[in-house]
Amino acid sequence: MDTQHFSEVNKKRCDECYHKIEDWSPTDWACALAGEVGELCNFLKKMRRGKNVDIKKIRHEIGDVFTYLDLLSQRLGVDMFECAIEKFNIVSDKFETNIKYEDVPEYKITSLKKYRGKII
Ligand SMILES: [Mg+2]
Repeated sequence: MDTQHFSEVNKKRCDECYHKIEDWSPTDWACALAGEVGELCNFLKKMRRGKNVDIKKIRHEIGDVFTYLDLLSQRLGVDMFECAIEKFNIVSDKFETNIKYEDVPEYKITSLKKYRGKII
């Protein structure tokens, strides 16, 4: 998967079909993301209770979560994949393991702190 291409297509569809990403605050995007996480959890809850849930529904909700997390990340001006890698490696350091994702040049790593104060 070309993650940058996914983000570009995701933004284009949002702009054309809904609204500009910037028209929603980070809080708006976070609430939308939480809604999708809730939908996913609801299906998982039903599975836990013994109901037969089509895995396709779970797959679609995971896709929704991923899509909204990307939109939230774009609204914040960060790359969600870079965030994941950065934090992954921080946690690896915490557990003193060499299992790290090392495939990202340091200059590409961004931080929410960098954008804090100018987006909300
Ligand atoms: Mg959904």
